[in-house]
Amino acid sequence: MIEVIHYTDPVVQKKLERPLGGFYNQARALLPGLPENMKLFVKEQQITEEIGTSGFAYSHDIINLEFDKNFPDQHAQMVDLRGTIFHESYHIKQSYTLSHLAERGPLAMIETSIYEGCATVFEREHAGTKPLFGDYKQHSPDELDAWLNKIRSIKNGFSRNDWEKWAFYNPELKEKWIIYKLGTHVVDKVLSDGSLDILDLQDKSAKDILALADNL
Ligand SMILES: [Zn+2]
Repeated sequence: MIEVIHYTDPVVQKKLERPLGGFYNQARALLPGLPENMKLFVKEQQITEEIGTSGFAYSHDIINLEFDKNFPDQHAQMVDLRGTIFHESYHIKQSYTLSHLAERGPLAMIETSIYEGCATVFEREHAGTKPLFGDYKQHSPDELDAWLNKIRSIKNGFSRNDWEKWAFYNPELKEKWIIYKLGTHVVDKVLSDGSLDILDLQDKSAKDILALADNL
């Protein structure tokens, strides 16, 4: 189940507990070991405008959720909220949360890309969303290779601004969501021969998954 522990509009956001609790239970059934009770910290500041929501995994039992209560298509928004709950649940399963990172120390940028790719493939395959931020089909293999080389060359110690430039919008390349698209591409490649599916990656680290991709 889900409990909203912070809201900016209690009347609207408290009502998310029931449907989102149902989504969380579905994700949890696929990701053994997640806590029975998940807490939701709801705000309305950094919303991905195309879908009226966004989120991040804060700790092993707290998801931060951005929610646009005025989003015009509430049905489409609910589909993407399901995707967001699945996506953040996968991050928690892989210990890719803000508080885990504070303990684990900084990651290389390519590791963050792999974790984003895993969660994006999971929501696409199991929540039935079509995440725009993970759709790399319009990019050529050469372009994807160039991104891989560039992101791999950025070791840990990069700034939050650097990460956001590669994750959300890169003004020099005029491209959005490079970290997400690249990670989704690498994870799809690892799963492409059908011997593993996305559920098989939930207990693997980004380094393990990258090693699988390198061995293809
Ligand atoms: Zn994510």
